[in-house]
Amino acid sequence: MSVLHKLQRVAGYVWAAPNTAIGLLGGVTMLCFGARLRFVRGVAEFSGGFLVELAHSFPSSMGFCAVTFGHVILGTSERELDFVRDHEHVHVKQYESWGPLFLPAYLGSSVWQLAKGRRAYRDNFFERQAFASESRPRAWDATPRRR
Ligand SMILES: [Zn+2]
Repeated sequence: MSVLHKLQRVAGYVWAAPNTAIGLLGGVTMLCFGARLRFVRGVAEFSGGFLVELAHSFPSSMGFCAVTFGHVILGTSERELDFVRDHEHVHVKQYESWGPLFLPAYLGSSVWQLAKGRRAYRDNFFERQAFASESRPRAWDATPRRR
């Protein structure tokens, strides 16, 4: 790894740090309720625990399995994280590029898609990049899109 590459890696961590702080707050809260922590490919992954069980107990569960904040991924289980890791790491790279602007840009993209009559999540610019990284299609890929 060249010196320039190392500097780029450090800059990515620093630029994403405000978002990572949000993730760490969530992760530490999860740890207090029995979650597990592991580090994979330079990212802290928190998963499981009572809060996840609580979220699954609600009937309106939307199939959530992971969310990324900077260099932290919060997930329902290690098994699910193994499945969605490539997708979530696209978001990590997006955080490294956009830094503190990522969350407003993400929200703006969702609002824009809704205004165009599209799906706020699946048609979001950042999600389309992440889903493009997946080798296995998800169930909703079969649903018709409104353009
Ligand atoms: Zn995503």
